[in-house]
Amino acid sequence: MAADTSDRATTTDSEYVTMICPNLACRRTVSSHVQSRGKTVRCVHCNTPFRVPSSDGGGIGAELADGRNR
Ligand SMILES: [Zn+2]
Repeated sequence: MAADTSDRATTTDSEYVTMICPNLACRRTVSSHVQSRGKTVRCVHCNTPFRVPSSDGGGIGAELADGRNR
């Protein structure tokens, strides 16, 4: 009966990065998987290639696995 907070953490909300297409003629919302961070994806609407930001400007800060020199 205490299985209340078990499967609640399987939210797919944070598994996708939402961006605005940098093409000024498009400016649509583009969702990409978090595994595409730092990579170049294409807008599904106008096919413009752009880079997925590796962090969303101060939400997730525990993803620095590249260089641990501070
Ligand atoms: Zn676009």
